Amino acid sequence: MRIHDKAAARLEELGVELRLGISLSEHTSLEIGGTTDMLLLRRHETIPDVMRLLQDEDTPHRFLGGGTNVLIADGELPWVVLHLPTSQPGMRVEGNAVFVDAAADLGGMVTFCAKRDLGGMEGLIGVPGSVGGALRMNAGAYGTQIGTYVREVDVYRAATGKIETMRGNDIRFDYRHTSFAPDDMMLRVKLELPSKPYNEIIAGIRVCNEKRRSSQPLNQKSAGCIFKNPPGGSAGRMIDELKLKGHRVGDAMVSDRHANFFVNAAHASCSDMLKLIDEVRERVRTAYGIELENEVIVWQN
Ligand SMILES: Cc1cc2nc3c(=O)[nH]c(=O)nc-3n(C[C@H](O)[C@H](O)[C@H](O)COP(=O)(O)OP(=O)(O)OC[C@H]3O[C@@H](n4cnc5c(N)ncnc54)[C@H](O)[C@@H]3O)c2cc1C
Repeated sequence: MRIHDKAAARLEELGVELRLGISLSEHTSLEIGGTTDMLLLRRHETIPDVMRLLQDEDTPHRFLGGGTNVLIADGELPWVVLHLPTSQPGMRVEGNAVFVDAAADLGGMVTFCAKRDLGGMEGLIGVPGSVGGALRMNAGAYGTQIGTYVREVDVYRAATGKIETMRGNDIRFDYRHTSFAPDDMMLRVKLELPSKPYNEIIAGIRVCNEKRRSSQPLNQKSAGCIFKNPPGGSAGRMIDELKLKGHRVGDAMVSDRHANFFVNAAHASCSDMLKLIDEVRERVRTAYGIELENEVIVWQN
């Protein structure tokens, strides 16, 4: 999808930086994804005008954070991608409250808070991606989930065309699912974190890092877990029991280190990865009678 010249000029007036014809494979941890225009939303206050313009122009769009939980179609894509610039995102502390821009790196936020003796989020240290993506997905690991600490979120709401502040109590944070509307755009969050000495937080972070290093293919291209765990079960364990580690379709492969991580072993396409996901889902359904649900977000044409 390409932005035409007249709309481009107006978008630039609204403080949007345009990156034309970029490959999303360079913006996703799987290194898979086709080509489109990217709009960097440099000014929160103009977002309602930007969104109105895209609506008037009938320009379909998707929102990309750090690109660590998405599987994006190949080829020329039929929508533009919106992105909050990651340079110098704001982070500020007032007592036990932390105010963070959605563009901030999640791990960077955890260490920023640790240095100010604010803990609780040690489990999230190795989750890659942005704070906005973590809010959307209710990212979690090792018994911690971000939703527990959310007090307020500034959101651009397509339903009203305005930036609104939502209270944490009014948002449902479930396992890798939240009650934000699909077209809500998270811009900033206020978290409330428990006080904890820096040394204790760092010790907790070291434990989580070690667990991750010993069980996940961190030096390979992946999007983390492909499937959600079914209630009371483990998708990874079932896939492992079916001896599917190392199983591949083209260059898309079930990791031989963690069976719920599917990796791009070289130059996998989106369709290779989708075929692999379908094959594994089918094998699990046949063997266990369980229908695995995707955790990875798939953007197809
Ligand atoms: C090696 C590895 C390990 C991982 N381990 C974990 C783990 O332990 N636990 C876990 O929960 N996840 C894990 N993940 C998955 C992923 O890192 C998280 O889901 C992360 O929170 C996604 O953030 P992101 O910014 O990359 O989002 P993206 O992948 O860019 O987007 C994910 C979804 O969020 C939406 N989104 C992103 N930002 C915004 C925003 N500001 N406003 C509105 N919508 C937005 C996108 O539209 C998309 O629907 C792992 C991934 C990798 C590669």
